[in-house]
Amino acid sequence: MLVDTERRWANRKDRACRGVDTKVFFPDSGPAGHVPSTATSELWAAAKDICQNCPVLEECRRDTLGEDYGVWGGLDERERRRLRQALIREGRRWPKDKRLEWGKFLHDLRTPSGAPHYTRKVRMDWSQIRHLTGVPSVLGQELVAEYEEHLAAVKAERKTKVVDRPLPERTELPFPAKRGKRDLWVRHNGVVTDAFYKGESSDGRWIFVHIGVGRGHALKWIKAKDVRFHRDVPRYVISDKERAA
Ligand code: SF4
Repeated sequence: MLVDTERRWANRKDRACRGVDTKVFFPDSGPAGHVPSTATSELWAAAKDICQNCPVLEECRRDTLGEDYGVWGGLDERERRRLRQALIREGRRWPKDKRLEWGKFLHDLRTPSGAPHYTRKVRMDWSQIRHLTGVPSVLGQELVAEYEEHLAAVKAERKTKVVDRPLPERTELPFPAKRGKRDLWVRHNGVVTDAFYKGESSDGRWIFVHIGVGRGHALKWIKAKDVRFHRDVPRYVISDKERAA
């Protein structure tokens, strides 16, 4: 798991900061980037000591890199800010599969279905994503662009993929030489069968037949090349009007 966006570990009863005064973890640290006061530094140090004995230290540190204030996972806000800056350089050196893994993760967060439930499944913006994952938006955008490019290439490749499979041979079934009991032979659904003549199209390209199908029968238009008469029948042209009816 890259990041647990639901922070399930926070529900653990044995996490070390449970019941500790929040002022220890979130003292007033002044404006971002300023050197903290001695009092703040002392409280941060006390909070970090508590974190060292926490059973979810690892998960907490992984999932709170984007937090702006206080001590989380044994790190104060200045340390997390430095780590986020370092992550931009680091991320650019990640191997391709790791970049794609992160790209997909961040890409999914940008879709309503991939966003965590507490966002009400609304597409997250880059500042929310930075806060949730710790990935600075400049790196996040690079990773998502790379993943989307990869996705497009995979789709294009799938579209043009050539699969070498032999096509089934079409065998023209021969008509029997003998006469049948009805008017004509019909090649239909891979068999030759005896059928009644019911008419034909004005250009003679289609023959209308009464044919046995399974245990029943049906009226069907069959291509003339798949029909062989074995009885003289009076020609009956079915007009377009009749066909529509
Ligand atoms: S690592 Fe620290 S901040 Fe995180 S849950 Fe444990 S005690 Fe709390």
